[in-house]
Amino acid sequence: MENSRKFYIDGQWVDPVNANDFDVIDPSTEEAIAVISLGGQADTDAAVAAANRAYDSWSQTSKAERLELMEAIAAEYERRSADIAQAMSDEMGAPIDFSNAVQVVAGTGHIGDFIDAFRDFELEYAPNPDSPGDRILHDPVGVVGLITPWNWPMNQVTLKVLPAIAAGCTMVLKPSEIAPLSSIVFTEVMRAAGTPAGVYNMVNGDGPGVGTQLSGHPGLDMISFTGSARAGILISKNAADTIKRVSLELGGKGANIVFADADAEAVARGAAECFSNSGQSCDAPTRMLVERSIYGQAVATAVATAEATAVDRASKSGDHMGPVVSELQYNKIQALIEKGMAEGARLAAGGPGRPAGLEKGYFVQPTVFADVDNSMTIAREEIFGPVLSMIPFDDEADALRIANATTYGLTNYVQTQDQAKGRRLARRLRSGMVQMNGEGLGPRTPFGGMRQSGNGREGGVWGIEDFIEVKTVSGWN
Ligand code: NAD
Repeated sequence: MENSRKFYIDGQWVDPVNANDFDVIDPSTEEAIAVISLGGQADTDAAVAAANRAYDSWSQTSKAERLELMEAIAAEYERRSADIAQAMSDEMGAPIDFSNAVQVVAGTGHIGDFIDAFRDFELEYAPNPDSPGDRILHDPVGVVGLITPWNWPMNQVTLKVLPAIAAGCTMVLKPSEIAPLSSIVFTEVMRAAGTPAGVYNMVNGDGPGVGTQLSGHPGLDMISFTGSARAGILISKNAADTIKRVSLELGGKGANIVFADADAEAVARGAAECFSNSGQSCDAPTRMLVERSIYGQAVATAVATAEATAVDRASKSGDHMGPVVSELQYNKIQALIEKGMAEGARLAAGGPGRPAGLEKGYFVQPTVFADVDNSMTIAREEIFGPVLSMIPFDDEADALRIANATTYGLTNYVQTQDQAKGRRLARRLRSGMVQMNGEGLGPRTPFGGMRQSGNGREGGVWGIEDFIEVKTVSGWN
């Protein structure tokens, strides 16, 4: 890849100030497929300085100018979508068909949705008919740092870059060092779309390096972060000295509450959602809470779903599950599977080790644990692998208690044909999102959590507001 060792600063591809090579590994083969550079303080400073220089002009652009750039980005993203899909498949192991049909398309959808949401977004308005001289101005929050994870690379990058552009911010993106290749192509998209120099900058690096330099940087006004709660805590602390706004999209431990009156597909659908993207989704329904009267049947169905889930290399066409992203994640998942067994959960499908026939690559067996108690480690910690924990419950109150007994609060799921019961639960579940009966969240809805799943809202108007300061002016007329 032509620009893989370079950073994008002030409208130019530039070499790092000090070379610091880092291999990008294909998780299907465990082989290095590209070399990137990890940036240092001088690279971070240069990118932040460029973004600050561009701020005065970009922050004063009109809505029409910003929309024009967003539409150019949409067109370029579409033009490069096959390259982006290939890069994501190579770097994080999404099977190529899934990468094309889901991973890339998530980004396409967000770009289009932000264009639509921004068209209707008021940058200036009179808040109160009784005081016509008052104006609310929706100013950009300033110069922002964007830090993204590896599991949905373009989904996360587009959820940050596009609303930042709409709000009038200038920015420095640091993608995950584990999956940086799609962001390099995305940066080519930003350049080809005609983004003015300095408005968008990209520096590769790791958490202790560029990530920490960004969160503590006096030249930035905000960090928008998606990743682990661990890093979210470090970023929040490091950002406190400069009173930055910190928007956090962190992990989850979603409960999928399946009542006896759920539709016939609910259990199989929930298990498949847990295994999707090799279990590497923050909103994965990893704790399946099942009403006791149908629990035995539900476990059998989940086991059948796990056993019917093929696992294979990302480069192969088909609807199989790929590997998990890295050796580190593979080892972490294996240790948690062992822990589940040691703490007394019943292993019903899958288990430790690779699936048969896959000796190399970070492949994990789709795994189902039955008779899980919500206090067990596998029910508390985010595993981030294809591991489902099935927990029986007695009644609605019991289900609610178990679902809310977690430090996280991202997405919960409810399966019931009793609409009143579903709505009662949706009101009381402590999570930023509740999905009922297999219906996905529609376009331009906000995505985000509460409690230790973070505080940000990405998508739609709320995603733009994350990057906005509200300014009140009097005497306007
Ligand atoms: P991670 O926290 O290890 O890394 C995420 C990003 O943060 C990377 O770019 C990394 O380099 C950087 N980083 C790490 N430590 C840092 C530090 N101290 N300071 C600044 N930056 C730092 O997470 P990951 O393993 O890449 O991603 C998986 C996590 O992301 C999971 O917990 C998952 O649930 C979460 N996630 C959340 C959402 C959401 O919207 N809520 C979406 C996707 C993923």
